[in-house]
Amino acid sequence: MYICIVDWHALTAEYNDTGVLRDYVFQAAVDILAVGLDPNTCAIFVQSEVKEHAELHLIFSMLVTVATLTRLPTYQEKKEELESYGFLGYPVLQAADICLYNAHKVPVGKDQEKHIWLANDLAKRFNRIYGETFVLPEALFTEVPLILGSDRRKMSKSLNNDITVSATEKETEEKIRSFFTDEKKIRKGDPGNPDMCPVYMLHRVYTPDADEEIAPPCRTGELGCVDCKTRLSANLNAELAPLRQKRDELIGNPDYVWDVLRNGSDIARARAQRVMDKVRDNMKTSYRKRP
Ligand code: SF4
Repeated sequence: MYICIVDWHALTAEYNDTGVLRDYVFQAAVDILAVGLDPNTCAIFVQSEVKEHAELHLIFSMLVTVATLTRLPTYQEKKEELESYGFLGYPVLQAADICLYNAHKVPVGKDQEKHIWLANDLAKRFNRIYGETFVLPEALFTEVPLILGSDRRKMSKSLNNDITVSATEKETEEKIRSFFTDEKKIRKGDPGNPDMCPVYMLHRVYTPDADEEIAPPCRTGELGCVDCKTRLSANLNAELAPLRQKRDELIGNPDYVWDVLRNGSDIARARAQRVMDKVRDNMKTSYRKRP
């Protein structure tokens, strides 16, 4: 498995404050290791350490129209805030991130489905023009493919509507208390619709038998939102406790974390270079080789 910390993508929002990126990269690596991804079986690396991402991005950008990119929902949602070419071309760089490793499955949330479609389309288009080169990637969803944030928008660090592994138990409880619920359920006794509620989405991940323990009493009104959130906080904090402990240990050992990223980048680069050699051969642009 290749786990890429996408610092170039972060530039779409942080282009004028790049001093924060080093810490973002470090914190992302700590989270990845704390949740249990093993650097002995996964290449965990930083995107900008593998320059081939930029090369394939440029090649892919020739195979997609501006109209296709402007129609993508993520562009439509944020186009007023982020007007740069980098933001418009973000999904093309994402396609390069995926195809550079010939990934066949990409674990994503439902909101990223269109981007995986674009990566698949670009791989197909390249293969059709230049010959068989890329595996066609597909999205890989979990049983709960969409988790919404506290304000019912996509859960995102930049929207501050997220729950982070690094938050304390108290901060997590406070954040869960702030979550929107089914707006028609005002007080205990009112029937609710858990399918419209971001709290229930998290229960489906963190509460065993949520479909029996939470959904039916929510629908009848027997379960109030305050109790429901308290139960979620308890389950979520119990699950995150060992991850937070591991996180603290990793923060105290930064040399180990940077070593993991260095090794991961070397492994990823070697793989990416093999794929790019094939890309250049098939495009007939390997000028140092005899035809
Ligand atoms: S009871 Fe729980 S699932 Fe139902 S609306 Fe309230 S918070 Fe959401």
